[in-house]
Amino acid sequence: MQLSKEPRELNREWLIVLSELGQGAFGIVYEASLSEPKAPEIQVAAKSLRKDAMDNEREELLEEALVMAQMEHANVVGLIGVITKGRPIYVVLEHMRNGSLKDYVMNKTCTPAQQVTWSRQVASGMAHIHSLGFIHRDLAARNVLLSASLTAKVADFGLARESTDDAYYRSRGGNVPVRWTAPEALEDNIFSEKSDVWAFGVLMYEVYTKAAMPYTGWNNQRVWIEVTNGFRLPCPADCPLPVFKIMSMCWLHDRHERPSFETLVKALAALETDSDMSSLFQS
Ligand code: ADP
Repeated sequence: MQLSKEPRELNREWLIVLSELGQGAFGIVYEASLSEPKAPEIQVAAKSLRKDAMDNEREELLEEALVMAQMEHANVVGLIGVITKGRPIYVVLEHMRNGSLKDYVMNKTCTPAQQVTWSRQVASGMAHIHSLGFIHRDLAARNVLLSASLTAKVADFGLARESTDDAYYRSRGGNVPVRWTAPEALEDNIFSEKSDVWAFGVLMYEVYTKAAMPYTGWNNQRVWIEVTNGFRLPCPADCPLPVFKIMSMCWLHDRHERPSFETLVKALAALETDSDMSSLFQS
């Protein structure tokens, strides 16, 4: 696997921390401005740890930065660099002005064209991640961010792992996002490119339901039992049938039959060329 690129070390004096953007599992994300010598000042997001963070959390944050350093794609949140000399440490990321895809679809009215475009953009970012031999393991609308121009980019590599030669990763336990997780990952801890594809289908469902909780009204245990027994999310109201067919392909029981992200990009791009999506609603 390719972990050949090191994150760039930035000088602490170049960063001015402005305000808090959000809190994560073990970190705080700040809006900041970065002024590198001989470069224009840019707005960035600086991810840091809470004061009471443990050593292993520091390592996990730096590991996330190392994974992100390998990626360079229009639909993956870019790593600008790290500040590891002195405290607090910062992981400096491209600033995503419009926040998470989840919050955006919950609070704003989105067009059918935007819904297909975001789906295609996420699939494209994921194809890149897989091409480098990584699996994400926590793909969901909450972990996709929107830029100032509303481009969707995959973020949050806290759970990302290099895939093994067998192209799957056996989890050592820990928290599993049950509602986004494929049956073979729930039952046998088999995380692969194809469990990321399953999660992508659920992410599309979120995009078409204003980020409704998948399997609303069921607790995680019930979701686990029903999904492993073959239950699947229904077609959201107002979701064109060709789009639902794509989601459903992501939820095929046999993971080998699910499409790759390359295939998903092609299928979604074909729907996208129908710019006003009008024909989608006729089928
Ligand atoms: P979590 O651990 O909850 O998945 P993070 O620690 O990555 O999340 O981020 C917490 C919050 O900070 C996000 O929900 C988002 O609102 C904000 N955030 C994270 N990264 C960025 C970014 N690059 N640009 C703008 N906002 C960000």
